Amino acid sequence: MRCLPRFARTRLLFNPGLLLVLALNLSPSSFASAYNAHPKLVVIVVIDQFRGDYLERYREQFGDGGFRLFLDHGAYFSDCNYNYANTHTAPGHATLVSGAYANGHGIVANALTGKFSPSHSATCVKFSYPMAWLDQEAFAAAHVKERDAETAVGEAMKQVGLRDYYTKTQLAEAAVPDTALGHKYLNSYSPEAGWYVIGVPQPYTIGSAKSTDHATPYTYDAHVPLAFYGLPFQPGTYRGQVEPVHLAATLASLLGINAPTHAVGRVLTEALAPPHYEENSGGSRK
Ligand SMILES: [Zn+2]
Repeated sequence: MRCLPRFARTRLLFNPGLLLVLALNLSPSSFASAYNAHPKLVVIVVIDQFRGDYLERYREQFGDGGFRLFLDHGAYFSDCNYNYANTHTAPGHATLVSGAYANGHGIVANALTGKFSPSHSATCVKFSYPMAWLDQEAFAAAHVKERDAETAVGEAMKQVGLRDYYTKTQLAEAAVPDTALGHKYLNSYSPEAGWYVIGVPQPYTIGSAKSTDHATPYTYDAHVPLAFYGLPFQPGTYRGQVEPVHLAATLASLLGINAPTHAVGRVLTEALAPPHYEENSGGSRK
């Protein structure tokens, strides 16, 4: 076998991002096995709004290198889907590095919670499509309980066109339908964000007429490309269902470290290459 490259590369792609991971081993003479040599540096690059079907849809238009490097020589997962509902940027990025969804990492939206000024108490609900934040102090001062306040706001959201809603109180009680969509909303729950309501958007709607967005549980937002390139991976196209939570577990395994405590993903063993051995090494791994 030829000398092993000095570095192993890994890459991932997402809708709330395209993710590029460079796993570098900077001292090639010191490692006994490229497979066992833990990367000393991992670089992750995420590009926003890269939809799951783009790689195959535009495959023939890509030149050498770049995306084709990963499609033709990397481990590409064609069916990677977020398993939560509010596919905003911040929860997605938190998922990549924590291996958890909002109910594990606590980040339910791009804002950590609604911010309300005491001098503007009339504005006690803020809408950030498809969520609403409630000023809990204002409602509590009016002796309105969280459950009632959130339900009233949710009903108002339906009046203005949202398909349905889940209140924070409801999610805390796991009171959702036992369906794939219901479980996506359960995974979107965080107890850390004050009082809030998560609206269920109508399919193919966005909150602003002026730009693109991603915030729904539907496949055009939840389906994201995932691809790796480098020595630890077995090149190929993998069409089984996977989730972005698998990234943290996979990288932790390759790095030889514990996965984050709340990580729920698994190691993508189907895409890992067998250990590398070097010829004339007397059986020692190289
Ligand atoms: Zn984004």
